[in-house]
Amino acid sequence: MICSKIFNRKKPILIANWKMNVPAIEWLPYIIKLKEDMPKKEATIVVCPPTVYLSEMSQNTADTDIRLGAQNVSQYLDGSFTGEVSVHMLPEIVAFVIVGHSERRTIFCESNEIIAKKIKLVGDAGLNPILCVGEPLEARTKTLQATYLRNQLYKSLDNFTFWENLIVAYEPIWAIGTGNSADIDDINTAVDVINDVMIELNPKAEPFIVYGGSVTPKNIAMYKEIPGLKGALIGGESLDVQKFLKIIDIYCY
Ligand code: PEP
Repeated sequence: MICSKIFNRKKPILIANWKMNVPAIEWLPYIIKLKEDMPKKEATIVVCPPTVYLSEMSQNTADTDIRLGAQNVSQYLDGSFTGEVSVHMLPEIVAFVIVGHSERRTIFCESNEIIAKKIKLVGDAGLNPILCVGEPLEARTKTLQATYLRNQLYKSLDNFTFWENLIVAYEPIWAIGTGNSADIDDINTAVDVINDVMIELNPKAEPFIVYGGSVTPKNIAMYKEIPGLKGALIGGESLDVQKFLKIIDIYCY
């Protein structure tokens, strides 16, 4: 099933990152419910399931407004890389690829240099990379948030050219899965840095920024009011389809 890779950058986007959750017998009921109850809104709705579900899920979401994304991709195109999935194995069934999630950076030791390779491959393949950046608690405590983000962005976007496809997700590590969501000041600081760096790297870039980190149906309304944000990336709360539907309903017009 070949899907369109284009998404409307004027509309808000909500991205569900299931991570290594949702058992094999549960994804179909989730998708059926999402299809049935998805509010008719001007929005892009993306589900990023475990890679093995993508193929069958693409058949169940064809002709719907649900778009699919991969949670990760290999830094290599092909060859002897046991357990890896090449970007060339994804394009027909996904439109988005999450790159540089903090769990990949910390647990799987992915450096900015590896992430730069991945993001370039995703762009080359005509897909939309969702580049995750965000500082650890220590950097925030020392008010080094801007310096940390600047460095991550410069190194991760080295040699990148597909600006019109890029989504940057500000995901502070201290906010992911902790219940400590970022406040307006945190986000405004991050949005300013991301905007500045992108314009420095490409004066014609039109940054498209989303926030991720303990987003819930209770706090999503606050993020909707932040002018620099175009959407959210949701982990834990996206596992419950009712909560994801609620977030869509509140965030999107
Ligand atoms: C994430 O891991 O991308 C994320 C935003 O998780 P959570 O919503 O659970 O904090």
